[in-house]
Amino acid sequence: MVEFDRVQKSYDGETLVVKDLNLAMPKGEFLTMLGPSGSGKTTCLMMLAGFETATSGEIRLAGREINHIPPHKRGIGMVFQNYALFPHMTVAENLSFPLEVRGMGKGERETKIKRALGMVQMNSFAGRRPAQLSGGQQQRIALARALVFDPDLVLMDEPLGALDKQLREHMQFEIKHLHESLGITVVYVTHDQSEALTMSDRVAVFNDGRIQQLAPPEDLYERPDNSFVAQFIGENN
Ligand code: ATP
Repeated sequence: MVEFDRVQKSYDGETLVVKDLNLAMPKGEFLTMLGPSGSGKTTCLMMLAGFETATSGEIRLAGREINHIPPHKRGIGMVFQNYALFPHMTVAENLSFPLEVRGMGKGERETKIKRALGMVQMNSFAGRRPAQLSGGQQQRIALARALVFDPDLVLMDEPLGALDKQLREHMQFEIKHLHESLGITVVYVTHDQSEALTMSDRVAVFNDGRIQQLAPPEDLYERPDNSFVAQFIGENN
């Protein structure tokens, strides 16, 4: 489904922030990129989304090289930490936007918006603006907006970083439930070890632009490949 093949990225033409990255994800997988700040996780997500291009190597989606496909044609939904909802639009208008970009007619848009709001239990909030919602509600809407056009792949960059602990744990459960019930493929970015270990099928532990280990959570605990992984996974656990 998602393949990184010897991908490298430099922003300044000198320093590589992603180094010789190889990764193959099957359809339906929940994969988390976990690592300290500056290790290259967001850069990988931005290249997948189409907001950054790889300096070398290939990124493929469903077998297709995506370098020349614009972001809105990649079939990818995205959720970020700061929600990025349009403040001047209602919830329904926020959800309608990605459908309009794809040229969908009004009737079909309304059906899809209703279904997506139902998925996050927010149907009664369709007429509100983002400022009239709590942080957790805004994040639910951001999630609904990422799912509204039936994406094959959803990218989430620290989506729960701004929420308090209790709400974060609740939303982790909701995201996991949506992943399982919809069968979507998810690439999730976090620097929170316990979040990565509870939610993921596999975790890619990043450090300094490289994947140090790519394995299911229990393997990272029981068989860390090197001292960085052992130490990083051990922190806060
Ligand atoms: P964080 O958890 O803090 O978001 P990260 O692991 O996601 O970190 P990246 O945001 O991918 O890491 O950053 C990797 C490196 O690339 C960092 O050294 C960062 O300063 C640099 N970088 C990221 N975006 C840009 C940019 N647009 N221009 C120049 N350098 C960048």
